Amino acid sequence: MNRKANIDRVVKQTQWDVVIIGGGASGLGIAVDAAQRGYRTLLLEQHDFAKGTSSRSTKLVHGGVRYLQNGDVSLVIEALKERGLMKRNAPHLVRDMSFVIPIYSWWNGPFYSIGLKIYDMMAGDLGLGKSQWLDKTETTRLIQNVNEHELRGGVVYHDGQFDDARMAISLALTADQQGACVLNYTQVTGLIQEDGLVCGLHFVDHLSGQKHAIRSNVVINATGVFSDTIMKMDEPEAQDRITPSQGIHLVLDREFLQGSHAIMIPQTTDGRVLFAVPWHDHVILGTTDTLIDSAALEPQALDQEIDFVLNNAAQYMHKKPKRSDVKSVFAGLRPLAASAAKDGKTKEISRHHKVHVSTSGLVSVLGGKWTTYRKMAEDTLNAAAMVGGLDTKKCKTKKLKLFGHQKDLSFEDPLHVYGTERETLMAQGPEDHNVSLSNIFYISVNQILYSIRHEMAITLEDIIARRVRCLFLDAKETLRLLPRIAHIMAQELNRDEHWEAQELEKTEQLVKNYIL
Ligand SMILES: Cc1cc2nc3c(=O)[nH]c(=O)nc-3n(C[C@H](O)[C@H](O)[C@H](O)COP(=O)(O)OP(=O)(O)OC[C@H]3O[C@@H](n4cnc5c(N)ncnc54)[C@H](O)[C@@H]3O)c2cc1C
Repeated sequence: MNRKANIDRVVKQTQWDVVIIGGGASGLGIAVDAAQRGYRTLLLEQHDFAKGTSSRSTKLVHGGVRYLQNGDVSLVIEALKERGLMKRNAPHLVRDMSFVIPIYSWWNGPFYSIGLKIYDMMAGDLGLGKSQWLDKTETTRLIQNVNEHELRGGVVYHDGQFDDARMAISLALTADQQGACVLNYTQVTGLIQEDGLVCGLHFVDHLSGQKHAIRSNVVINATGVFSDTIMKMDEPEAQDRITPSQGIHLVLDREFLQGSHAIMIPQTTDGRVLFAVPWHDHVILGTTDTLIDSAALEPQALDQEIDFVLNNAAQYMHKKPKRSDVKSVFAGLRPLAASAAKDGKTKEISRHHKVHVSTSGLVSVLGGKWTTYRKMAEDTLNAAAMVGGLDTKKCKTKKLKLFGHQKDLSFEDPLHVYGTERETLMAQGPEDHNVSLSNIFYISVNQILYSIRHEMAITLEDIIARRVRCLFLDAKETLRLLPRIAHIMAQELNRDEHWEAQELEKTEQLVKNYIL
């Protein structure tokens, strides 16, 4: 995946079959599918791949027990199937995780036992493991920190867990392998229309400042919470179709959740569920659901959201987390596809995705979840092929192994996310380049070099946030390491001291937002 070669390709090739705006889960999934079908495919991302919502999820590959509670059966069946496919096609990134639901009231026991048996049945052949009722002793054995006051028992069930930004990078690499041209730091600034139909777009390359115009049979808008902006480039009077809803996560030391299980807290004070999930030797606590007025690339956690997560977690954990225990805080915006009700308020806020085709032929994919990215891509491309008059070709991504596909590796190994590329990464430099720069998380010189040479990492932020996940694990420790990482980058990229100082200053500001 070479950015310079890809820019050269865009300069030479001005006509494409499919151009995708947005390099998150939705856009990257579409790029993989389109390239595999044999379409000339270009993807443009304004910042880095997965800079938006796709690096800020709870990291679950799940059917959504909560949606079952709401009676959204079709969404759960679809997501359970996709959960199984995602694990099969990216076994180096998705793992089986057991979740324990502690039960405190007598009626919750049968409610969850039966509900989760149905959840297991819905997964069919792609199931991960059977759910099971636990007595109080077993529950406290599995979650050693659980609050035992009035605890009646628990239920254990299985779902998937993954590294979201690493999955995005793997999708970008897979798309590249299939022949797509993928570019980060390229922002779409306008659409080109002829005879009332969208036939291309303008974009700016943020690294060179150069502006480009390209033509395409079909343009796909996969910009998540920014979808309305692109839809308004097409039809200035278009109604808003996305309601951004913010969710925050707090990251704690692993000691707050001993054992290998995650906890699902079934009923928070606002009636939602809260997760405590082990991730890269830390624990993620989340999330919230706060309607927000406008989309942003760096959303900020609100004080009341932080208190909400800490207070609800404290009710279930023996060792109660405090603000000072938080190692990193991050917020993401759900791109909920909302349809306006008659009273003008957003009524239906569904997790289902929608494919919208405007009268001028702009195809937009709205809503959805990470877990269902493959199905979203399939549905979007089926519609796009018709709109663009492309040869009909069947989707084959159900069985497509993603870049790095490797089974039977140890998830305890911090390099498991690279799958088959682990050895190549470790051979980027001498043996001592594999020693971690930190005692808190694993980050090596070889990882930094590999990210630059093979994964299109351009900035210091790309490395700490999305190639290695240290910003999301421990922001203070990441801040301490920044000068060292910036220096390694400057040497590899042949940059001067001015570049290094600028990168440091800008990234320090960003990292501070992740520290409570
Ligand atoms: C708090 C939270 C927790 C979640 N947890 C889970 C979970 O555990 N499991 C799960 O399955 N799902 C989860 N989700 C949902 C999932 O993360 C999202 O559905 C998914 O990441 C959305 O991907 P996307 O590609 O549509 O949007 P994004 O990832 O936001 O990507 C859109 C991209 O478009 C780019 N863009 C915008 N404008 C332009 C332009 N003009 N030119 C070029 N590029 C542009 C943006 O920079 C951005 O990178 C969660 C969501 C949130 C908010």
